[in-house]
Amino acid sequence: MLENRRIGFIGGGAMAEALLSGLVRLVPPQAITVSDPNPSRLAYLQSEMAVQTTSDNSVVCEQSDIVVLAVKPQVLPAVLTPLKTAICSKHLVISIAAGITLAQLESWLSPEVPLIRVMPNTPALIGKGASALAGGRAVSEQDVQTAKALLEAVGIAEVLPETYLNAVTGFSGSGPAYVYLFIEALIDAGVKEGLTRDLARKLAIQTVIGSAQLLIETGNHPAIERDKVTSPGGTTIAGVQALEDGGFRSAVFAAVHAGTKRARELS
Ligand code: NAD
Repeated sequence: MLENRRIGFIGGGAMAEALLSGLVRLVPPQAITVSDPNPSRLAYLQSEMAVQTTSDNSVVCEQSDIVVLAVKPQVLPAVLTPLKTAICSKHLVISIAAGITLAQLESWLSPEVPLIRVMPNTPALIGKGASALAGGRAVSEQDVQTAKALLEAVGIAEVLPETYLNAVTGFSGSGPAYVYLFIEALIDAGVKEGLTRDLARKLAIQTVIGSAQLLIETGNHPAIERDKVTSPGGTTIAGVQALEDGGFRSAVFAAVHAGTKRARELS
């Protein structure tokens, strides 16, 4: 999907770096151009990834078939306005800007430009991202598959209608924060029971990684794995009851609902 495609990034920050680190395994670095106003960022990306760099966003458009918009959402209108003629229907434009809709992108560019909107998450920084993507009116099935292949360089990617992207934002986009909060609480709870902080941290993180990996490898529903560690009258069911008493499940529902609602308000 990505062979012989020239790929450009407008914005060379944290998310661009994450995507680049996966992409350079699939595409020769000389086929990738990154623009950023920050010279030290460009020097860093050039030395780490051997990609082409420029401070001129229009050069990225000239030198690329696929243009990834990786700037902060608030600067996107100002970035795109001068590029209105430089970006045309021959490009595939992929925006990772949180909360920016396909309709907004269309209004800043043109309705003929094939557009993809993506909601990635931060584990993409280590190749373990979970992204969802939605295509605009001008995209072909091949464009969608190309964008999917690009995102799969840093994790999994699912294609969805745009109406689901606010839910994805409150779910897997914000999800790492929910998981970190759980891990943090688990560590403190271990410390309360007398474990050293270092040991509690090690055990808590490995418990989360191991449990998630077990679900991936077995393909089992989480309830099946939970039942396996919950013996009658044992320690785990006592802990599970305490979590249920504390409204753990409803708190998770409320968190995803609040995140989704906020994403809707912001877009
Ligand atoms: P970042 O601040 O690390 O990177 C943004 C980069 O854009 C910076 O290097 C900045 O110098 C550059 N920039 C600023 N003005 C520019 C301009 N006029 N032209 C070209 N480049 C310009 O931000 P990030 O975390 O990489 O986020 C990038 C996008 O990814 C955002 O829109 C964000 O919503 C989205 N996103 C980020 C995350 C995340 O967790 N980091 C998750 C989901 C989506």
